[in-house]
Amino acid sequence: MTTPSETSEKKSLNFIEQIVVSDLEKGKNGGRLQTRFPPEPNGYLHIGHAKAICMDFGVAQKFGGVCNLRFDDTNPQKEDTEYVESIKNDIEWLGFKWGNIYHASDYFDQLWDFAVRLIREGKAYVDEQTSEQIAEQKGTPTRPGVASPYRDRPVEESLALFEKMNSGELPEGSMVLRAKIDMANPNMHFRDPIIYRIINKEHHRTGSKWKVYPMYDFAHGQSDFFEGVTHSICTLEFVPHRPLYDYFIDELKEGKDLDDNRPHQFEFNRLELTYTVMSKRKLLALVQEGQVDGWDDPRMPTLCGLRRRGYSPESIRKFVDMIGYTRFDALNDYAMLEAAAREDLNARALRVSAVLAPVKLIITNYPEGQTEEMEAQNNPERPEDGTHTVTFSRELWIERDDFMEDAPKKFFRMVPGKEVRLKNAYIVMCTGCKKDENGNITEIYATYDPESRSGLAGANRKVKGTLHWLSCNHCLPAEVRIYDRLFTVENPSADERDFRELLNPESLKVVKGCYVEPFAAHNDLNNPYLQFQRTGYFTLDKYSTPEHLVFNRTVALKDNAFKRVNG
Ligand code: ATP
Ligand code: MG
Repeated sequence: MTTPSETSEKKSLNFIEQIVVSDLEKGKNGGRLQTRFPPEPNGYLHIGHAKAICMDFGVAQKFGGVCNLRFDDTNPQKEDTEYVESIKNDIEWLGFKWGNIYHASDYFDQLWDFAVRLIREGKAYVDEQTSEQIAEQKGTPTRPGVASPYRDRPVEESLALFEKMNSGELPEGSMVLRAKIDMANPNMHFRDPIIYRIINKEHHRTGSKWKVYPMYDFAHGQSDFFEGVTHSICTLEFVPHRPLYDYFIDELKEGKDLDDNRPHQFEFNRLELTYTVMSKRKLLALVQEGQVDGWDDPRMPTLCGLRRRGYSPESIRKFVDMIGYTRFDALNDYAMLEAAAREDLNARALRVSAVLAPVKLIITNYPEGQTEEMEAQNNPERPEDGTHTVTFSRELWIERDDFMEDAPKKFFRMVPGKEVRLKNAYIVMCTGCKKDENGNITEIYATYDPESRSGLAGANRKVKGTLHWLSCNHCLPAEVRIYDRLFTVENPSADERDFRELLNPESLKVVKGCYVEPFAAHNDLNNPYLQFQRTGYFTLDKYSTPEHLVFNRTVALKDNAFKRVNG
């Protein structure tokens, strides 16, 4: 019997965690729990992979198992060690640790031997047809396929040809090895699937040793089996592959000890996000065609892109938690990812001042040449993060849109004749402004109340607005990059048009002539996460130098919808 608290704990587990717990309780697999994360090293990891990583590593961590990293390196045409290194780096950045690192290529000998055994047993044959011919003969789920003319060729012939396929004498595509299963099976994956093909390209680990490479379905389950994976967790598109996964493992085990100590496949829904794409092929095209500034362009859904944009690993894990794991495909709203980032960064980011569209404010009754050090909290959410100082003086920068000459009633910012507080400093009364011949405001004037300094008794007077500011002589120039959605349509993958046509031409806005306080460029807390007060979350870009500061906006303080609702 389970107690009420046990039941509620179970309920808060996702469906895969529930399966794992139940298997452990039944003592399946000798009480072992082993998962793997199996990326193909043909691109950088994206946020969809983060969802798989949080599952594969998370479930092992939570229930005392181990998760290994396995590179699914069965296609040397697209794979590279650059990707291998980036994948390891991104997993560690997300905060996970693997047990061992394995490679599908570790098993090429075993897989070859297994394929030879299948040929000997009459369960595989070499087909010399083209891939088009083979595809044509496949039939449809309701119409049986047509057998290849090579299906019943003698075992010895297939054995010799399989050797020849691996000799380097044959061009790619001239022959394949197919499993001989069932050309009428309603599951199309059973209609004599291709299990080996010729690829005449060096492999980043095995060099030129092999000319034949196993297909996914002939490598994945077997690799799981060789390693002792218990729960092989993947995404829903592999549901129809599962019977074949089981079939090859049954063949490998030769009927022994069928129910225990063998991997089982479980599937959850893929992460798909609005206004972006997750296909590595498309992301690679964006990189290669120069549409973005590399895999780590801050608009990319890659983990390195999100990191460069200023997302914390915790905000990504929080997002994955928010969306959860189900058995139904769905499109997740990008705004949810942003909400997760805001929530996490609110607790993490250092508060600094930055003025993105500056206009000069002169405090006319403040002595020329005088300065004061004002205390600013690093993070009001976490007083233990301490304070830093900002310099106040007679000439300040404020945001242009924080001033209006003729303002509506509810504009609680800088308006002639009205008071506002300058954050961490004084209450000032706006006295007017100067304009150029075109009517553009060039300077704003105000007087300050010396009794109103933040923290003093006189500071208690209520004023509605609080503005951020910088001392003109005590700030640094900076460039700020504001990012918008990479694509203009909600679901680019479902659009008939080429995805390149759907790119948002305004996804990057470079704002020059901004100013930041020096603490924004170098804080001694080793904290890359910043909040530009009243503006948003920012981080230094990789191209930033002390001479030319560049900041990326991670996310605005509030999303647009919220801003619109609130005027
Ligand atoms: P490709 O775009 O090349 O098809 P892939 O998505 O298959 O790439 P892999 O490197 O094979 O990429 O993926 C490694 C693991 O990450 C797999 O288990 C896969 O199911 C999972 N994964 C990939 N994309 C997503 C996604 N969008 N949501 C959740 N899991 C994903
Ligand atoms: Mg894949």
